Amino acid sequence: MATAPLLDIGAHAPVPVNTGGIVAVHNLGFGRSTASCSCGWAGRRRHLKAAAEQDAWVHAMRDGCDVSCPLVLAW
Ligand SMILES: [Zn+2]
Repeated sequence: MATAPLLDIGAHAPVPVNTGGIVAVHNLGFGRSTASCSCGWAGRRRHLKAAAEQDAWVHAMRDGCDVSCPLVLAW
């Protein structure tokens, strides 16, 4: 009888610790949104607000910063 190999849970990347930054999306008007963080990181200017939101979430997950609530702020 064949058995499935066990998952190696030790191979996962460590969970980043909060570096103290808070990331938010600034809505600069129609078709212009950008994500920026209080840790100094700044995302690209995006035509779609959703793309800037995605930048913010990816930065929060990779660098351990928090996401602001609400995420999108009027400039
Ligand atoms: Zn940050």
